[in-house]
Amino acid sequence: MGSVSVRDVSVAFEAFRVFDGLNLDIEEGEFIVLLGPSGCGKSTLLNAIAGLLDVASGQIWIGGRNVTWEEPKDRGIAMVFQSYALYPRMSVRENMSFGLKMAKTPRPEIEKRVKHAADLLQIAHLLDRRPDQLSGGQRQRVAIGRALVRDAAVFLFDEPLSNLDAKLRNELRVEIKRLHARLGKTTMVYVTHDQIEAMTLADRIVVLKEQKVQQIGTPGEIYHRPANLFVAGFVGSPQMNFIQGRIGMNNGVPEFVKGQRRLSLANYQFGGRPPVDQDIVLGIRPEHLEIATNGTWSDLMIDIVEPMGADTVIWCSDHEGSVQVRTNSSRRAVPGESLTLSVDVSQVSLFSPETGDRL
Ligand code: ATP
Repeated sequence: MGSVSVRDVSVAFEAFRVFDGLNLDIEEGEFIVLLGPSGCGKSTLLNAIAGLLDVASGQIWIGGRNVTWEEPKDRGIAMVFQSYALYPRMSVRENMSFGLKMAKTPRPEIEKRVKHAADLLQIAHLLDRRPDQLSGGQRQRVAIGRALVRDAAVFLFDEPLSNLDAKLRNELRVEIKRLHARLGKTTMVYVTHDQIEAMTLADRIVVLKEQKVQQIGTPGEIYHRPANLFVAGFVGSPQMNFIQGRIGMNNGVPEFVKGQRRLSLANYQFGGRPPVDQDIVLGIRPEHLEIATNGTWSDLMIDIVEPMGADTVIWCSDHEGSVQVRTNSSRRAVPGESLTLSVDVSQVSLFSPETGDRL
């Protein structure tokens, strides 16, 4: 019912063509997040799946049916927008019932579905209010409720939490995850530029940049094995450290070399042959660096210390550049003091500086 297949799709805005034959297969019940910076094409892809935009070439299949030329209302989807898009003069109950009334659903069935959705979203006590009598978070719950009553096999979310403050965003994010778990087989396709939402909600993330798919993978794959420098830098906060160096050989074992510093890459799984003597970029996440007395990276100077509660982010540098360290060590870090770091070599990523691709 709820599988979605995007086959070789391009969209045209007059002369401007978006995507160049994009392919994406989504399984029934999967939670897919389309992630990327502004302008990368995530809304365009969502709108093409929804049928709000025509494709210039390619096909959209939903639930095993070619829906490329079907109206949005016939595609078996329900959509939730950032702007809520509620009818201002209607009560919550009427907003949630409206689509079903239009579809001539019998009244008792409408009542049953509205009650069920309102209970799930904890808005049963708000059914007689109008949207202007609700908070932003409550309005978005109503918008989700309106999608829920349609009993669609596929839910499409376009940045549904962007208008909410940080606390509400976290609450509703958990609510959406719970909803997906409860609904079981409902497929969800969710657009966001927020990497935390992507990491916490998705079964798989599709990372887009400039209307091109950069990587499709589980949150773990995207985080631990980013396909290129863009993905590595876009996901993770504080950002992954990138250190320029080159690959050397030491008794047949590849190592990362930067000035006097060397890191053994004995256990790194290169995609092909190690590019010996060539420039590379080493990526290491701040939590994979640790303050040490006897480490591989000595004589760094502490610039800034940011206590985050559970852990601390330390910005440090030497004449060759700066790195950020995320530590939960209780050792006090003081700006101006020097620091030695150890590197968890099992967690590094290597990239080509020319193509940006993972090596
Ligand atoms: P945002 O997060 O800012 O909404 P997005 O990733 O959703 O960005 P899209 O809105 O899908 O990006 O836009 C993808 C590309 O298509 C952009 O380069 C944008 O300028 C272009 N585009 C989108 N809508 C139109 C339009 N109606 N006419 C011309 N170009 C458009």
